[in-house]
Amino acid sequence: MKNFYPAFYSQFKCIANKCEDSCCKDWDIDVDSETEQYYNSVSGELGDKIRRLTVTDKYGERVFINNTECGVRCPFWNKDMLCDIYIGLGEEHLSHTCATFPRLKVDHYGCSEHILSFACPEAARFMLRTENAYDELDSSERIDTAPDDVSAFMIESRRRTAEIFRSGDPMIYKLIDCLVMTAQIERILQGEEPAPLDTSNYVEADIKSVFELHKGFEIMSKKWRDTLNSAAEECENIILSREFDDAFGKFAEYYIYRYYLTSLNEGDAMYAVKRIIFAYLITSGIYSYIHKYNIDISIMRILQRYSKEVEHSYENTEKMNDALSSNDNYSAESILLMLEGICDKLS
Ligand code: SF4
Repeated sequence: MKNFYPAFYSQFKCIANKCEDSCCKDWDIDVDSETEQYYNSVSGELGDKIRRLTVTDKYGERVFINNTECGVRCPFWNKDMLCDIYIGLGEEHLSHTCATFPRLKVDHYGCSEHILSFACPEAARFMLRTENAYDELDSSERIDTAPDDVSAFMIESRRRTAEIFRSGDPMIYKLIDCLVMTAQIERILQGEEPAPLDTSNYVEADIKSVFELHKGFEIMSKKWRDTLNSAAEECENIILSREFDDAFGKFAEYYIYRYYLTSLNEGDAMYAVKRIIFAYLITSGIYSYIHKYNIDISIMRILQRYSKEVEHSYENTEKMNDALSSNDNYSAESILLMLEGICDKLS
């Protein structure tokens, strides 16, 4: 199987105890069965502690129970912010999740594409400073590996969608272009003639409801919850910023390479695009709020934290999927009306 990587992939290295938002914090750590089998053979104090703190979560997965006494964190993350399992048993005996995060592998058309999760601050920094990072994933060599015309069309559609986010236009216009183009792509894949989105029988989606959706998610960090709640109160007066837009373009490309082909394959390319639009409304709303009140949070941390709070939670993904598939207000047409409404306020 051929492997394709973004430009920065091989340069990434975990910065361990220098990390400002470690993956050892906030999450339950999955323990795969092969690793647990090994842990069951470990003797001494560490082996006993591992067995005592490995539990079954509400989804039936084996996980390390969170240590809530000193903030929600992995119980093997010590006071020096280093991993006791890594120190005691070696890197080769970390669970699959710990050994691989933030590396993600997505298989498409007989090839593996490897990306890094934006939920890791160090990976986020690489993504924010690298131009055209995903070119290899859409190179002609990648298209040549497509087994048929339809999959080649899908890979090319992804490339053209990502290209939208590299233009110098304000982000709100790029989101409209992306939504409109994806609607055309969906029609072509369904064997229909491309046609403009007809919004005449639709009502405008409400930006407030997008904030309410996110407020109803499982939220790990109190600081994130407080900031989200405050930004929600002012969400109808978002001041859009070009500085934020530049960074968000890189985040949008990450979303496209993480989700677009999968959702296109599942017959719903709009899913990935709507998620990008929702991510933009929330993160630019938060940026607008912190900018107004001089709160010191970097753009990288807003985007990274959004990824950590929303993308890596099974429960939040389910809630997002339910909202996108069952709420009429989140149709492509209603979202287009909302984006056009934001543009009207700008002009
Ligand atoms: S989030 Fe990234 S940099 Fe931070 S500890 Fe985890 S892998 Fe390392």
